[in-house]
Amino acid sequence: MESVDVLVIGGGPTGLGAAKRLHHLSLPNIEWALVDSADRVGGLATTDTTKEGFLFDVGGHVIFSHYAYFDDVLNEALPHPEDWHVHRRISYVRSLGNWVPYPYQNNLALLPQKEKIRCLEGMIDAVTHPAPNKPVTFDEWILSTMGDGIADLFMRPYNFKVWAVPTTRMQCRWLGERVAAPNLKMVVKNVIEDKCSESWGPNSTFRFPAVGGTGCIWSAVGNTLPQEKIRLGAKVAKVNTDSRTVTLDDGKEITWKKNLITTMPLDYLCSVLDPPRSDVVDAAKNLFYSTTHVVGVGIRGKRPDRIGDKCWLYFPEDDCPFYRATIFSNYSPGNQPEAHVRLPTITTAGQWTHETPTEGRGKDKEGPYWSLMFEISESTMKPLDSTTASILASTIAGAVSTTLLQPEDEIVSVYHRAFDHGYPTPTLERDGALDVILPALKELGILSRGRFGSWKYEVGNQDHSFMLGVEAVDACVFGGVELTLGNPDMINSRMNDERRLPNAKKAVKELGGGEVDEEKRREVRENMENARKLVARKRSIGSIGRTTTTVKMEKSTTDQKTQELPPPTTASQPAVATRDAIHPAFYVAVWIALSSSVILFNKYILSTLRFPFPIFLTALHMSFATAATRILAKTTKMLDSRHENPMDWSQWSKSVLPIGVAFSASLIFSNQAYIYLSVAFIQMLKATTPVVVLFASWGFGMAAPSKKVFMNVFVIVLGVMIASYGEIHFVAIGVAFQALGIVFEATRLVMVQKLLSSSGHKMDPMVSLHYFAPVCASFLTVIAMVFEGPRLSIEDILRVGVPFLLFTAAVAFMLNVSVVILIGRTSSLVLTLSGVLKDILLVSASFLLFGDPITGTQIFGYSIALGGLMWYKMGTKEMEAVLIRAKSLKSKFGRLGRRKATAFLVMFATGIAMLYVYYGDHVETLKSAAMAARHGYGHL
Ligand SMILES: Cc1cc2nc3c(=O)[nH]c(=O)nc-3n(C[C@H](O)[C@H](O)[C@H](O)COP(=O)(O)OP(=O)(O)OC[C@H]3O[C@@H](n4cnc5c(N)ncnc54)[C@H](O)[C@@H]3O)c2cc1C
Repeated sequence: MESVDVLVIGGGPTGLGAAKRLHHLSLPNIEWALVDSADRVGGLATTDTTKEGFLFDVGGHVIFSHYAYFDDVLNEALPHPEDWHVHRRISYVRSLGNWVPYPYQNNLALLPQKEKIRCLEGMIDAVTHPAPNKPVTFDEWILSTMGDGIADLFMRPYNFKVWAVPTTRMQCRWLGERVAAPNLKMVVKNVIEDKCSESWGPNSTFRFPAVGGTGCIWSAVGNTLPQEKIRLGAKVAKVNTDSRTVTLDDGKEITWKKNLITTMPLDYLCSVLDPPRSDVVDAAKNLFYSTTHVVGVGIRGKRPDRIGDKCWLYFPEDDCPFYRATIFSNYSPGNQPEAHVRLPTITTAGQWTHETPTEGRGKDKEGPYWSLMFEISESTMKPLDSTTASILASTIAGAVSTTLLQPEDEIVSVYHRAFDHGYPTPTLERDGALDVILPALKELGILSRGRFGSWKYEVGNQDHSFMLGVEAVDACVFGGVELTLGNPDMINSRMNDERRLPNAKKAVKELGGGEVDEEKRREVRENMENARKLVARKRSIGSIGRTTTTVKMEKSTTDQKTQELPPPTTASQPAVATRDAIHPAFYVAVWIALSSSVILFNKYILSTLRFPFPIFLTALHMSFATAATRILAKTTKMLDSRHENPMDWSQWSKSVLPIGVAFSASLIFSNQAYIYLSVAFIQMLKATTPVVVLFASWGFGMAAPSKKVFMNVFVIVLGVMIASYGEIHFVAIGVAFQALGIVFEATRLVMVQKLLSSSGHKMDPMVSLHYFAPVCASFLTVIAMVFEGPRLSIEDILRVGVPFLLFTAAVAFMLNVSVVILIGRTSSLVLTLSGVLKDILLVSASFLLFGDPITGTQIFGYSIALGGLMWYKMGTKEMEAVLIRAKSLKSKFGRLGRRKATAFLVMFATGIAMLYVYYGDHVETLKSAAMAARHGYGHL
C-alpha cells in the first residue's frame, strides 16, 4: 500500500496550491502525493474546446489576485508578457431594455423616470431611516444599503438568478462587516445631471491567458510540479479515519501519515468517512449549493458594434435564463478559430429550437468568428429543465430577446456542460455547519479546504483557493495561521504579500536541498507573525478606526475584484471575521476586574495594614512573576514557544532591558511626584497618559500618525482632566517628575507592544513576561532597597502576612499576564483608554453601590470622556448613524415624545441634584482607594 506524509485530494487551484507549497518547501521529512478523479488538473478552473475550435471556461473566470505568492506562481508558470492579454473590465446590467453600466446605482439616470424616482426614494429611505438592528439576511442587507427600489429592480431578482436561493435565505456576513453605503449625493447628482459614471477603481484591469483559456494557467502551474507525485483519473471513494487511508474507486489504497488535505466537496467528504460520523453528516445537511450550467455559442461574423469591447453583462430580468454573459472572444483571439477556418452553420439564432442538432451539416464557410458564454444556475429552490436541448434553446432565445444576438446571426458551434457543485451558498445555516464539521475533521488530521472544501464563497475564487491550499500546508507543517480561511474580510481588503515565491525559493536553494533549518523556520515564522500582527492590528482598527475603513470602502465602491461574479453589492468585503477569536472586550473586562482587585488589595495593604512600601510590593510582584513563569516553563508547555525563537543578547538588550529600565524609571519619578503634588492634580496629569502613549506609538512606528485618532484621544483626555479637576497646587519640580513618570510609563507600554508584535522576535505574552519580569524585579529590588529599605523591617512583612502577600502577588501576576495579553490583542493605547473606562466604572460603582457622591464636574468630565470613548470605539459613521436614529425617533414621537423626553430629563436631573445635595461633596472612597493604590503602582 502506498504511503505518504501528506496526501492532497484534488488538482484544482486549492490542491495545486497545496502541492506547490509542498514542492516549494521540499521538506526532507514530508513525502506527498496528489490525486484527482479528473483527467487533467484545474478543477472548476479548466477550459473546454468544442469540436469546431471554440474555447469555453467554466463560466467567466477572471483573475483578481489578493496575494503576491499567487502572482509569483502564475508568473513562474506563464512567464512571458506575450503569455497574457490585459483587459479593462467593462460590464453592464441589462435593465428595462437598457444597458446600465455597472455599478447600477451610479447610473440610475439611464432608467425610465418612474423607476429612477423609486430607486432614489428607496435609497433616501435607507439612509434616513436606518434599520434599528444590523442586517442578518442578505435581503435585509440589500434593503438597508440600497433601499427597496434597487432591491426590486436589480438586487433581488439578479441574486436569485445567481444563487438559485432567495436572498431572504442567505446571510450577509460573507459580504464583510464594513459595508459601503452607496454614495447618495453622487447618485442624486448623476440623476439630476442625467449623467452616468462607471467610476472604475484603480484595479480595473485583469489579465487572461493568450492561449488555452483559464485552464491553461492551471496546467502550466501543474507542469511546475513533479509529475510522478500527481495521479489523475483516481477518484477517492472512501476515507478511513482510523487507518488514515483513502480508498480509490479502483480499490487501491493510499495512507497518509501526517495530514490529509482534501478539496473534494465537503458534503461528499462527510458522506465517505469511514467509520461514519453522524455529527458531521448531519451538519453537512445544512450546506447548500447550486449547480452551474455553462453554455457557449460560437457565431460567424465580425464582433458587432452593439457588443463592442464589453467583458461581461448581468441579467436580472426574466427574459432570459442566464444571469451572466461573457463576451469570451473579447478575452483572447485564441478563444475562437482563426478567420480562415471554414465551418458550417448549424442554424441562425432566430431559428434555433429544441430540435436543432448541435453540429452543423451545411456548406463550410470562412469566419471571422466571435463567441458568447452564458451561466445559468439550478438548485432545488430553482429547478430547471436541464437537458442540453432545452438549455441551449432557452439560452439562445434569451440572447436574442436581450439583443446579444440578432435572429439572423449564424451559429457555428454550441457547448453545454453542467457543474453539479457550482456555487457554495452562504446560507443562514452555513457557518453553524462549518463550525461543527471543519474542527471535527481537523482533529482527525484532515484539512478540508477550497471552494467546496471549506464552502466559503467569500474566499472561493482561484486566488483564494490556491492560497487556502498553501496555508493548509503551512498549518500542517509549521502550525501556521490560516488567514484566508479564518479572516476572509481581512484578506480581501489588502494585498497579502507575506509569502513570496522567489525569496522562499532562494532560501530553499541556499539550504542545498531543503533541510529544515533555522532560516527556513524563521521565514515561515515571520509569515505567521506578520499574519498575527495583522490580525491584532486589524482587530484594533476594527474597534478604533472604523471610519478609516469606511472611507476606503467608499473609494472601492466600484471595486469588483473580490468577487468572481460581483453579486453587485458595491462592497469589497474587508474587515475581520473574529468568530473564532475571543472578543477584545473580554480581555478588557478581565483586565479591569484584575486591576481593580489589585488596587483594592494594595489599598488594604498600604493604608489599612499600614505598610507604606509600594516599590517593595511591586518588586515582590515582579519576583513572583519571575518565579511563576519559570515554574510554568518547567512544568507545562505554555512557554515552549520560547525555544522556537531563543532570545539572544542583542535582542535582550534592545527590547527587554529597556522595558525594565522604563518600568523602574516610571515608578521612581511618579513616586517622587507625590511628594510635591496633590493626588487630584496627579490624577489630572496622569489623564494625559493616552496622548503620550499615542505619541510614543507613532514614535516607535507602531501606528501611523492620524489627526483623527489624536483628536479622539484628546477629547477623552480632556474629559478625564475635567473630571479630575481639584485643588491644583502647581509645583514645577513635581510636575516635571510626574511628566517623566508618564513618559517612561508610555514608553514601557509601547515597548511591550513592540515586543509582542515585532516581526523580528515576536513572542507570545507569557514568554515576554518570562523575559522582562526578572529585569523589572532586579531593578525594582535595588530601588526598593534604596528608597524603602532603611524603613522596612521583617516585622512589617510579618504583620501583613507572607501568605497574604503571596496571594496578592499571584493576583498581580494574573494582572501582568492580562496586561501583556491585552496589549498583544489590541494595543498599548487601548490599554490606557481601558484605564479611563475603569475609572468611570469605579466612580459609577461607588456612586451606585455605596452611595458615594459624584460631583457635577466629574459627571461633566466623564461624560465627555465616555462620549470620546464611544467615538473612538464606533467611529464617526456609526456615531452619525446613532444620531440620525435618535433624530428619526424624535421626529416619530413628535411633540408628545418631546414633552415626555423633557419631563424625563428634568426628573433625572432633579434626582441627581437631590442625591448630590443629600450626600454632600465629601466622599471619594473608591476613587481615593484607586488613587492611593496607584501611588507607587504605576503599572495598574
Ligand atoms: C461559474 C463559475 C465562475 C467562476 N468565476 C471565477 C472568476 O471569475 N474568478 C475566479 O478567480 N474564480 C472563479 N470561479 C471559482 C474557481 O473556479 C474556484 O476558485 C476554483 O476552481 C476552486 O478550486 P478548488 O481546488 O477549491 O476546487 P475545484 O476547482 O472544484 O477542484 C476540486 C478538484 O477535486 C477533484 N475531486 C473532487 N472529488 C474528488 C474525488 N472524490 N476524488 C478525487 N478527486 C476529486 C475534482 O476533480 C477537482 O479537480 C468560478 C467558479 C464557477 C463555478
